[in-house]
Formats: sequence, structure tokens, C-alpha cells
Amino acid sequence: MASSFSAVPVYGSSISVRLPCKASRCKNHLVCSASGPGAAVTEAVSQLTSGPADLSQEAVRTLTDLHGDSLHELCQAAASLRDEAHQFVTFSPKVFTPLTRLCRDACGYCTFAQPPVPGRRSYMTMEEVLQVASLGAQQGCAEILFTLGDKPEQLYPEARQELRALGYESTLEYAADAAGTVMRETGLLPHINAGTMGLAEVKALRTVSAGQGLMLETSSRRLMLPGMPHHKCPDKDPDLRLLTIEAAGQAAVPYTSGLLIGIGETREERIQSLLDLRALDNQYGHIQELIIQNFVPKKNTAMAHATEPPFEEMLWTIAITRLLFGPSMNIQAPPNLTPGPDGGEAGWRALSLAGANDFGGISPVTKDYVNPEKPWPHLHSLAAATAAAGKALVPRLTVYPEVVRAADRWLDSSAGRSSPFAATLRQADGSGYARASPWCPGMASAEDSSAAAESAGPPLERIVLASSMSREESSAVPEEHAHSSPPAPATESDQHSSIPVPRAKRGPRRWQVELGADGLLLGACRPPASQQIKELVSAVLEDERQLTEDDIMTLFSARGADFDAVCEAADTLRERLCGNVVRYAVNRNINYTNRCTYACGFCAFSKGRIAEELRGAPYLLPYAEIARRTREAWSRGASETCMQGGIHPEFTGETYLRLLEAAKAGAPDIHVHAFSPLEVTEGARTLGWSLRKYLMALKDAGLGSLPGTAAEVLDDETRAIICPDKLNTAQWLEVIETAHNVGLNTTATIMFGHVDGPRNWARHLIAIRDLQQRTGGITEFVPLPFVHMEAPIYLKGRARKGPTLHECFLMHAVARLTLQQALPNIQASWVKMGPERAAALMRAGCNDMGGSIMNESITKAAGAKHGQELPPERMEELILAAGRISQQRTTNYTAPPAEQTAKSYGAPPLEPVVNLVLRFPDRGQAKMLA
Ligand code: SF4
Repeated sequence: MASSFSAVPVYGSSISVRLPCKASRCKNHLVCSASGPGAAVTEAVSQLTSGPADLSQEAVRTLTDLHGDSLHELCQAAASLRDEAHQFVTFSPKVFTPLTRLCRDACGYCTFAQPPVPGRRSYMTMEEVLQVASLGAQQGCAEILFTLGDKPEQLYPEARQELRALGYESTLEYAADAAGTVMRETGLLPHINAGTMGLAEVKALRTVSAGQGLMLETSSRRLMLPGMPHHKCPDKDPDLRLLTIEAAGQAAVPYTSGLLIGIGETREERIQSLLDLRALDNQYGHIQELIIQNFVPKKNTAMAHATEPPFEEMLWTIAITRLLFGPSMNIQAPPNLTPGPDGGEAGWRALSLAGANDFGGISPVTKDYVNPEKPWPHLHSLAAATAAAGKALVPRLTVYPEVVRAADRWLDSSAGRSSPFAATLRQADGSGYARASPWCPGMASAEDSSAAAESAGPPLERIVLASSMSREESSAVPEEHAHSSPPAPATESDQHSSIPVPRAKRGPRRWQVELGADGLLLGACRPPASQQIKELVSAVLEDERQLTEDDIMTLFSARGADFDAVCEAADTLRERLCGNVVRYAVNRNINYTNRCTYACGFCAFSKGRIAEELRGAPYLLPYAEIARRTREAWSRGASETCMQGGIHPEFTGETYLRLLEAAKAGAPDIHVHAFSPLEVTEGARTLGWSLRKYLMALKDAGLGSLPGTAAEVLDDETRAIICPDKLNTAQWLEVIETAHNVGLNTTATIMFGHVDGPRNWARHLIAIRDLQQRTGGITEFVPLPFVHMEAPIYLKGRARKGPTLHECFLMHAVARLTLQQALPNIQASWVKMGPERAAALMRAGCNDMGGSIMNESITKAAGAKHGQELPPERMEELILAAGRISQQRTTNYTAPPAEQTAKSYGAPPLEPVVNLVLRFPDRGQAKMLA
């Protein structure tokens, strides 16, 4: 692509100072007047933002003349545009891996590229790559960036020989294998910068990476002339680079590109380079980030004595990039290269105020091999700078949230659970950012008690950023690995390596990627709560607002002070509606069969023909066993039995009536809380009855209430993925509303944290609120975090690892603020959260701890470590430690009979349970119940 501008000096001398418009606001808050230079700027900016393929010569001239106050105004306009789409400033905790420093190019500013050195290897070995990657994974990195020179084997025979010895024909082939190996073995997401490539090569790397990148640097061919930095650099031909970036668009690769500024290009040429990139992005939509990087002169290079570009050039380029690409583009400035005496916090703040929203990769393990003399900034300093610019600093993945949310389009999933798609979901939260914690629902943790001990203030706890490791693995990491000390010097064994391989080192702590449950870096500066969140929560507390879908999504995005404000408001509303009493029921779960004809992707409990032997055998409980378990529950002080099961192919509506009868035979006065809306639907269907008629029959037979399970997420977009053959949203709501209409109360649940996100959660909460406002029949709302460990959809690589701790707190708090007085009971599930964390949720709007649950099998089947009875003594200890008053309740929130409560303390151990193991085919199995 040819440049349409003539070359002019980079740093023009015309400085124009313009005053902000007072009379009328121009589109981008830029200077504006009826005539004169202000109008010209407005027109030029308008051309930038309106998206034509090219700009007029006059607009280009006007923009390149901006300096001083005018540039300040341009930056303000850019930052304002950025704020329309970016709530946070992000960075990517990563490992830098220079697979080889050989390169067939010889750019005038580069010290990365090095020729072969006799007696030294030129490529990292796979063991070295894995060693660095593992160290990064242990320290909280989510990304591995492969940086390598361009096709060195085409220049150096030594490279060809070494590659052959390693078993590869080309550097790209080796890079692909190394990326795939790291992804499989450490869980880090590879991002590959492998130079210029054709479509086939880009596609091959797509199968082993989450993203790829190539800095355009400039689209000016002038820089390839003799005496210029790209002379004799075949891969710096801008046409070739643009073709590579286009190939990435054709292959749907989330792509990183950008400009290197100050290498002799003009401002006009920068605008043209950005227009060339924008043309490709307009066509393919694949450019996820643009890096604006400043040239830094280095010793022993052709440009060792060239002048570093003034900081103003960075600000100008970032602002122009923002205005050209609009609010959503991710614009990155490398923070370790921030130039000049005003670098550091003042510089980072200025970069942020010019429209940047990302600080790129920062490593606790490796240095910046391209600029080895420039150390990474301390994360807390960076967070302070972004807070001063009004933004929280948040870790991200190698792909940005918008890519994660559209992962089906952008990430390769052909290798199932070993694919970049699956690896990305494992590292992501529901909004598409890096998971804030290795904690997952259902996971046992030695830290539970220490978290609960932090009873004052917001629910923070110390957790290390997610990696592929489990908490158990994470806690096994030696202390010195948890610090971001600089790598230790090379040891004797490194002496033949291509680079000194970083090793864990004992030493003073510099910084650590460690987040609180509020989603922000622990101990780091944070901006104050936003006006938007403050207004939303105060409107709720003043009873002036019913939250909309967008309001709810805003609440779900809260981090830092915003998160605190949401949790505090929920806690205030809880106190107002429920006082300080936390209730729980003494109950027993009875799951009469795990045989099921449905195939819900999240369900590890059910046994169909395909999964006959998976995760244990299919079973059925005889009626006598149901009666025995109910009798035993009553004798141990229970007031409720909760009965649900799989959809056995031989069950009919009559079966459910018989199950009810069996429970009542065991304990006539027990409250039977039974049958999910799916079971009710199946029961009615098999008898050919209406829902109403069947529900009335169940009620007449002694049914006390219905569990509001099978709701999953009440948004058909999500249901189509996780349970396509199950009830849809409207059908679930119909069963629940019909139950209410015949006088049966229900609960309502949400099972969240798999493929869903804040929009789906908002729709769910609104559906529940609307129904409750019509009927008032829901006794409590129960968020059920998805337990991923054994869930089929997770094992296939199609779901996340459940909600993060941050999301769990928010789900309970936002539910409180959404449901308000319509539904005053918000329950924490200790089975999913763990007892201590469930108690901690009492500070985020909850007022109920659910049931003591004498037997739990559904969540345990999914891999949870909790679930086998929380007796009243322990329940009350937890509630007391949370600063609340405990009280037993019945299913319908009345006081249980005094004799039941008395029996519930010091109850004897449960008798062993009896399950009838089934074999397929199913014929005659229902008879086994009798
Ligand atoms: S969630 Fe229920 S309906 Fe779905 S597979 Fe599991 S047991 Fe069957």
C-alpha cells in the first residue's frame, strides 16, 4: 500500500495554541470556533473519527501541526472517546520467551537480533521454554509471548543445522510446537510474534495460540532506503507486513500490531500507517490492539546516536490512534519505555490521559528482551498512575475481553480441551478478563478459615492470580517463586544457552501479581467509586429505581471501590429488610436416581447410556429406602426433605406421586420440598395432564414446595449451549408461576459461571423479579456457582472454571439490589462456596445459609469437596463468627417445631445409605423402586 502523503520533517516548528471552545461544544470537546484554526482542527478530527479511508491534505497538515495546548486538547478528546468503551486500564502478566534471537533482518535500532555465536546454542531448547513457562505460571502469568527473529534459517546455515538437530525444518515449525507444548503443559496462553508469514503459516499457528502479532512499525517505504533503519531488512517491507496482517484477518486471528515511532518517519507517515491498519481492521475486525512504541537508542546499533522521540510524540500518536480507531480499540503503550524525566508515574498517567487503555505485557519472571536495559515498572506504581488518571489497573489475558466473549469466532477449538479456545476459557472470568483467583467453586481450601476471620470491611482475601494450577499446586509453590524478583544470573548449566534462563530466586520482593476478591491488585492504589455506581446504589437504597438490564450489568462490572460500594449497599439493604438474623434449615437431600435421559452439559450427576460407568454407577432408590432416609432425617431434627433426581426414562407422573407418598410414610409431618420444574413437566406430560392439574395432585399428596432448580440461567442464549434439550426460559417460568397459583411456594436459583456473562445474569435476575412481583411465591433466591471439575462441558473444553470469587460476591450483592423488597431472602450455598466463604457472603447482602443437608450428591458428583452435612452447631458457629444471629427455620421461613430443633443438636451419625446399582437397558427398573 503506497503512502498518499509526501515526506516532511517529523517535528514541525509551527506551534499553535488554541483555547477551549466556550460557546459551543464541538464533537470531541476540542477547540472550536466559527472560523480560523479551531475550525480546521475540528474538521480534521471529524475526518479522523468519521472513518473515511483517507484524510484530506489539509486535515493531515492541521493534525501534524498540533503541539502544546492544542495537543492537550487532542489528548482530552481521545481520552474522552476511550472512556466510552474502557472502564479499566489493563496489562497482561506474561512470560517473554525469545525462542531464538537469530534474524535475517538487521534493523538499525535493534539489539534483539544477534548472529550465531560459536559454541552457543541459538535456540532455546524445549526444556528451557517449559522451565520459563512453568515459572511464569507459578507466579501468576496468564500469557507466554514468543518473540523470535524472522526466518533466520534462510540466512544462517547454523540455524538450519540446529533446527534439524531439534527435529524441525523451520523456526516457525519449532515455534508452533513449543507454543502447543507450553499451552498443554502449563496452561499459559501463547501469543506468537513470528514475523512475516503467508496464510497457511498464520493458520497453522492459530491452532496453538490465542493471538499473534506483527508490528507494522511504519508503512513508509522511505525507511527502507540506504541510510534508513529498514535498509536491507526484507521483512520490513511494509507491503509484505500488511499482507501478513491481512492473512491474519482472513484466518480470524486476534491480532496485535502497531507503530514504532521516532525511527525517522514523519507524523504524516504515521497517520498513513494507521490508515493502512484501519483499512484492514475495517475489513476483518481482527486487530485487537495497537501498540504505540517509542524508539529507544541502543549502544552498538546504527541508530545509537539518534535522538529519542520527545514524549509529546507518544501522546500525539496515541491520541491520533484513538481518534482514528474509535472507543473500542485497545491502545497500548509499553510502560518500561516511557521516556524523559517525566517518565514513571507522571508519564504513565499522561499516556493514559492521551487515550491509551493498556500497558501491555509485564513479567514477574523475564525481562523485556527487546529492550533489556528497561526494567518493568512496579505494578503498584503503575496502579497509582492509572488511579490518578481515574482508572483501575486490571490484569487481562493475551486476548482482550471482547475476543473472549466471542471466542467461538476468534479462537481455534479443533483440539477440544487442548485447544486455545479451551485454554482461554480456563483462564477467563465472565467478563473476559483474567481470573482473579485460582479459587473455584467446590474447591476445598485451607484458607477458608482465615478468609472468614476477616470479618470487618469488604470481603477481601489474599489470592494469587489464576494460572493453570490448582490451589493445591499453587500453595505448594515455594515462597521465593511467589515474588517477582529479577531472574537469577545464568549458572554454569546455562553457559551454552541462547539466553540466560530465568530461575526462581530468593530475594527482596519487588512486586507480585496478587489480587483481592474485589478484582484489583492487593495493596495498590485504586480510584474512588465512580459517580455511576454511587448514583445507582443510592437510587436503589432510596427506593427510587428498579434496575434495568444495563444497570445490572454495570453493577456486575464493579471492581475496587465500586465493588465495595455495591457490597456495602447490598449489606445495608439486607439489614433494612432482614435485620441481623441469618436463618438456615435442618434438612436432608434425597436424590432418588441419577439415571437421566437429558444431557445437560454442566451436569456430572446424571448417568445416561454413554456415561454408564463414568463418575460412578447409575442407581435408583427403592421407596423403602426413601421412607427410611426421611424417617432418619426427622429423628435427627430435620424439618424438610429435599427430593430431586434425574429424569429416569421409566418414571411417570405416578412415580413422583409414589416418591412423595414414600417420604410421607417415613415422616408424616416433614415438609417435602421436591421435584424440579423439569420433573413436574415430565410428570404432567407422561400422564397427559395440564401443569395445573398435576401440581394440584402433588399438593394434595403432601408436596410442601418446589425447588426452583433447573433454572440454570434464564436466558435462552445460554440454555441453547448448556442444556439445549431442557425446558426453555418461558417453560420454566410457566411451571413456577403455575405452582405459585396453586399455592405451592418455590425457591429460585441461578447456576452461573460456565459460558454465561453479566448480560445473561441480568436477564435472569429481571425474569425472577418480574415473576415474583406477579406472584410473591418465591421464598428465597439461591445463586449456585457452577462447579466445573467433573462437568462434561468443562471436560470438553467448552466452559470456564466456574465464577471467580469476585463474581460470586457480586452475584449475591447484585441480586439483593435487583430483587429488593420483592424477594428479601438471598441464600449462600455452602456446598458450592465452602462454609467459610458462604459465611463471608453475609457481608455482601445474604441473610440465609440454606440447609444443613444431611446428604448431598449432585454437587459432589461435579467434583466439589464440600457437601456432606453442616450440622447446626457448625452452622451457628459460622453465623456467629460473621457477626450475625442464627436462627433455624422451616422451608417457608417459619419457626420449626421446638422438638425438632432440640433433636437437631448432637444428632447421631447417619446410617450408611443404600443405592440400587442399575444396568442398562432400563426395562423394568422402575419396578425396583417397590
Ligand atoms: S441437570 Fe437434571 S435433567 Fe440435566 S442431565 Fe442432570 S439430572 Fe438430567
